[in-house]
Amino acid sequence: MELTRRDTIRLGMAGLAATTFMPFTARAQGAGDRYAVEGGEIVINPIGHATFVMQVPGMVIYNDPATDPATFQGMPPADVVLITHEHGDHFKPETLAAVVGANTRLVVNPAVFGKLSDDMKAKATQIANGAGTEVGGVRIDAIPAYNTTEDRKKYHPQGRDNGYVLGVGGRRIYIAGDTEDIPEMRSLTDIHIAFVPMNLPFTMDVTQASSAVAAFKPAFVYPYHYGESDVQKFAADVKAAAAETQVVLGKWY
Ligand code: ZN
Ligand code: ZN
Repeated sequence: MELTRRDTIRLGMAGLAATTFMPFTARAQGAGDRYAVEGGEIVINPIGHATFVMQVPGMVIYNDPATDPATFQGMPPADVVLITHEHGDHFKPETLAAVVGANTRLVVNPAVFGKLSDDMKAKATQIANGAGTEVGGVRIDAIPAYNTTEDRKKYHPQGRDNGYVLGVGGRRIYIAGDTEDIPEMRSLTDIHIAFVPMNLPFTMDVTQASSAVAAFKPAFVYPYHYGESDVQKFAADVKAAAAETQVVLGKWY
């Protein structure tokens, strides 16, 4: 069965605010996937690959802004920019300069902090794996993100890169970063929305990804950073292994 984005939404949005879900073609008009939380809603707009904009009550968060600056047209300006790691599809100084405003705060891993200009450093908080911070009432905890397969460890060595768990409106949001299905991911609890990568050789295959998702059972999961991976297979495998998890397919490419 071809699982379309509309199907996933129609099948699984029980318990959410009765908001109309708009197709991504309407993104420029300020649409996005909406999830009710305490104090308002979370609005998610995939931008491309690993990049997305997430509006939460009182704040706009940009994750790994590394696409062309023009792709953010129509998006509200960033209050917080999260950067998971130093690779060019996650950290791009030119894009960063375009999206960071006078009052934007950055939250980055220590390796990226070391690569920031002095101007950007002044706006940044570095947190290593296991550390956390709080920006404007949003709790941000750094979760490990690394490769476990021997010939992939060169891409994301353990201890360097971050995933993030955000506490927003009583909900926990997990942004995995570039990682395989590590124990720290599998043992997460109470995740409402998860963003999970899959693409070889850099992260993991769809079977690892669906297996990990079935272990921590987020309410909603977005495959992202998936390149040519078979996200339909990922969606079908998650549906078979974790019926309580809803796969949401966004327009990342
Ligand atoms: Zn990477
Ligand atoms: Zn990447």
